[in-house]
Amino acid sequence: GSLQSSNFIQNIINEDMKTNKYGGRVHTRFPPEPNGYLHIGHAKSICLNFGLAAKNGGLCNLRFDDTNPAKEDEEYVESIKEDVKWLGFDWDGRLFYASDYFEKMYQYAVQLIKAGKAYVCDLSAEEIREYRGTLTEPGRESPYRNRSVEENLELFERMKAGEFPDGSRVLRAKIDMASGNLNMRDPVLYRIMHATHHRTGDKWCIYPMYDFAHPISDSIEGITHSICTLEFEDHRPLYDWVLDALGIYHPQQIEFARLNLSYTVMSKRKLRELVEQGYVSGWDDPRMPTICGLRRRGYTPEAIRRFCDLIGVAKSNSIVDIALLEHCIREDLNLKAPRVMAVLRPLRVVIENYPEGQVEELDAVYNQENPALGSRKVPFSRELYIEQDDFLENPPGKFFRLAPGREVRLKHAYIIKCERVIKDERTGRVIELRCTYDPATRSGSSPEVRKVKGTLHWVSAAHAVRAEVRLYDHLFTKENPDEEEDFKACLNPHSLERLTSCLVEPSLAGAAPGSRYQFLRHGYFCTDPVDSTGEALVFNRIVPLKDTWAK
Ligand code: ATP
Ligand code: MG
Ligand code: MG
Repeated sequence: GSLQSSNFIQNIINEDMKTNKYGGRVHTRFPPEPNGYLHIGHAKSICLNFGLAAKNGGLCNLRFDDTNPAKEDEEYVESIKEDVKWLGFDWDGRLFYASDYFEKMYQYAVQLIKAGKAYVCDLSAEEIREYRGTLTEPGRESPYRNRSVEENLELFERMKAGEFPDGSRVLRAKIDMASGNLNMRDPVLYRIMHATHHRTGDKWCIYPMYDFAHPISDSIEGITHSICTLEFEDHRPLYDWVLDALGIYHPQQIEFARLNLSYTVMSKRKLRELVEQGYVSGWDDPRMPTICGLRRRGYTPEAIRRFCDLIGVAKSNSIVDIALLEHCIREDLNLKAPRVMAVLRPLRVVIENYPEGQVEELDAVYNQENPALGSRKVPFSRELYIEQDDFLENPPGKFFRLAPGREVRLKHAYIIKCERVIKDERTGRVIELRCTYDPATRSGSSPEVRKVKGTLHWVSAAHAVRAEVRLYDHLFTKENPDEEEDFKACLNPHSLERLTSCLVEPSLAGAAPGSRYQFLRHGYFCTDPVDSTGEALVFNRIVPLKDTWAK
């Protein structure tokens, strides 16, 4: 794929600037419903809305679309604010709640009733669906459609006063039961719901539907470009109808394709199911595509913003390869992250010709490609650990790691040679290598005496720090879990592997939560912000080193 970002919405803005449609203003909003945690799809919308405002000298509001008290909660409001800020965006005091407009919306509904454009309907939800018809069959008018303005006003007032039970009546727009667009067949504007709202408490027992609340909220806030996802394209005529029927300021709704990522799901309902049924440890499980999950995993805001920029804005839905997101974090951390040594599956090595009790502090630069990161000392001694995978007793031809009689370089240290293999008498497993080192081959000593093909990472046994390392794989085994009958049936049983006896170099002792490193030859890692402590280090693998993104 091409990494050229494209943005058709910017073109619309350019055109509007030229024609002075909104007096040269650009004002967007990000309107999450506080009924779950934000995910990477929301990040796309955040980058788009805040990004377009910034780029065009405009403003962007953060607006909580809190019109359904049954599913919303303050916990989500707080998490959403935290995530938007962490991504690097600032609503700069422009924080709004759709619920702040409940009174205004009610008055607008009354205005529609008075204009003969809305009526109270006593059909049940099921009957309304039945009467609505289908794409090939026109709808039928509700028997309550021609109630008088007076009767509608009185009934709506009584709905508000709490006289009727949930579901017994609704307020509907009076539009066109024969419309080719099902959304225009007298859509519901208000429903009765006796539920406590997280902000307005029990003040209201009628709540506006999205299609009524959203255009009004946009209008009140003076939004110019109301950007939403593609599934609302069919709702745009209704968005326009509401504003025209009320005769109030009219923003432009613009739809773009929602982000889908391979090997994961993005709907809040499905993510909640994973959390509530214990398939993951929480919304912030490092395998989740949530912002807090990605943050905990070790992703940077820069990488996520770069990703959102690269995928661009399109008019048709597609699935983005998760390898592109992984590519973005590698690209961001390549120069930023210190490169350190961690042995995930340790194999003991004794250097027989190295004096017992001697310790050398070797100079080790943190990142050869970025000298600004400086260096640290790495202790070398007679007893070391290397990676189990880096030794084979009977290696194939092209194995450049350690084997009986073969030589490798230890990173930042010496060339060693494997002299003997010690096995567990009972199991036959290799438990220790006896090696020799060549004192003339110390790294950095010039000229280099000779070259060997393999370089291994290692730690000094007496100095290494124990750590737990968590390796993550895709949460699902299928590219598009949404296609499955039950998306949970393709959960990856190996999405988490916990290695509890890893050994890391001593410079990592006490690493602060959220510190990011490259573990040489393994990938990028981050101390887990929740579980890692000064005494018990826990590292999350953000991504392995190998880049599978096909440029
Ligand atoms: P979900 O289907 O996960 O519940 P939603 O659209 O109902 O998502 P909202 O809280 O209403 O969630 O979303 C806030 C904003 O983020 C909306 O403008 C919505 O269009 C946008 N958004 C949500 N999901 C995506 C996505 N996958 N890609 C791009 N934008 C998204
Ligand atoms: Mg929504
Ligand atoms: Mg939703």
